[in-house]
Amino acid sequence: IPVDPFDLVIFGGTGDLATRKILPGLYRRFQAGQMPEGARIIGAARSELTDEAYRELVRAAVAEHVDADRQDGAELAGFLDRVSYTRIDARGGDGWDTLAAKMRPDTIHAFYFSVGPGLFGDLAERLNTHGIAGPDCRIVVEKPFGHDLASARALNETLARHFVEHQIYRIDHYLGKETVQNLMAVRFGNMLFEPLWNAQYVDHIQITVAETVGVGGRGDYYDKSGAMRDMVQNHMMQLLCLIAMEPPYTFDPDAVRDEKLKVIRALDPVDPDDIVRGQYRAMNGTPGYLEDAEAPDSPTESFIALKLHLSNWRWKGTPFYLRTGKRLRARTSEIAVTFKDPPHSIFGEQPGQRSNVLVIRLQPNEGIKLKVTIKEPGPGGMRLIEVPLDMSFAEALGEGVRDISDAYERLIMDVIRGNQTLFMRGDEVEAAWAWADPIIAAWEARGDRPEPYDPGGSGPEDALMLMHKDARRWREVR
Ligand code: NAD
Repeated sequence: IPVDPFDLVIFGGTGDLATRKILPGLYRRFQAGQMPEGARIIGAARSELTDEAYRELVRAAVAEHVDADRQDGAELAGFLDRVSYTRIDARGGDGWDTLAAKMRPDTIHAFYFSVGPGLFGDLAERLNTHGIAGPDCRIVVEKPFGHDLASARALNETLARHFVEHQIYRIDHYLGKETVQNLMAVRFGNMLFEPLWNAQYVDHIQITVAETVGVGGRGDYYDKSGAMRDMVQNHMMQLLCLIAMEPPYTFDPDAVRDEKLKVIRALDPVDPDDIVRGQYRAMNGTPGYLEDAEAPDSPTESFIALKLHLSNWRWKGTPFYLRTGKRLRARTSEIAVTFKDPPHSIFGEQPGQRSNVLVIRLQPNEGIKLKVTIKEPGPGGMRLIEVPLDMSFAEALGEGVRDISDAYERLIMDVIRGNQTLFMRGDEVEAAWAWADPIIAAWEARGDRPEPYDPGGSGPEDALMLMHKDARRWREVR
């Protein structure tokens, strides 16, 4: 369904995020017929570029980041017709009047802040002083949203000086992933799962976000952040919220976000023994974290595993195990809900462990899998085996899967539609920092050092122990 006509200004329109994600994503939405005649994209950044030179940059971005079989010269020309460029200085007066003159009245105005967070305040202020921001315009802000509670609060206050909450779209691209939204569809669109979705029936939940890459190239940024700030406080917290929240009474933005906020507030403080931090080491000539980050003595973690508890009626007693790390064996993100064993086996002792597990896979190969127990076929008696009921979206939906859009394109279209359901509200972000801050402060005060781990595996030994001591096991990283 096409959206209404819009003027979308991408501040930082020449940067890495814009060229890798935002512009290719917009092109795919154009191809999908979602962009009406009156849609305009305006790149705005510091470089001195003509419209033509900027279109060349967009053309190159599409060539590099859109699948070859989806590229089409005529379509691309149609897309580029909608693209223009304005040089602006976020910190000065240059370019703002030109930008103001470009904005058409009676059209949706959206401003994507794809620049470092240090410039958010400058952009917000100049949009207002130059009379560009109307009461219905939207701004999109990128991660990181603060470094701790104090900085997140300051950022919220800065934005609130110029915009009201319903205009502010804080991106967490995990929320734009198709399977993450499917998580809500599975939970609240079926009768099957929800009655079992609580501490009485769920043994534990694992959330894994594993990466194979190291921090090479972005070590400077990462070393000030670490896995807790870079992944857990935002992306993994959002996944936890969607898994654990109560059914919202509607899919409206605030109904959903109210429920997510309650989850964060119900989190118990974390016992230091339930946290394992790791740092990948050098091996076989490949550099370790310390070399990648060019920080010889850095105590920053490139891996973290935590066991969390929620104090509420639904989840009291069911642990949530989270882990994320770099330079692990495989690039994979998944949520696994392990149900309790049946109270009694009428089949007597059976080898192996056979709990039902619902696996929601975010990447690669998005899909949902349910492990169920059946009888092993054949005359061997009543021997039980486990089989997966496997729904890979790519297989189940066939051609339609081409339309599984990248998280960014989906979220940008939501901005144009004015739908904030998949964006973080200011109080959610602050609550997540309020939870994370004391955990970080405690390990800093103790001077804890992360445990070195071999690249290409599943993280430090102690992370395995975190589960073993509870007589549980992580799923394989593969
Ligand atoms: P980048 O350094 O590649 O691009 C920055 C852009 O900002 C450039 O277009 C530059 O011209 C513009 N800019 C810088 N100073 C300016 C000024 N004074 N006036 C006007 N324009 C100015 O950065 P990036 O990697 O694209 O990241 C942009 C934002 O997105 C950051 O907040 C980053 O944290 C966030 N982010 C990036 C990624 C990613 O994959 N690159 C992922 C998640 C979040």
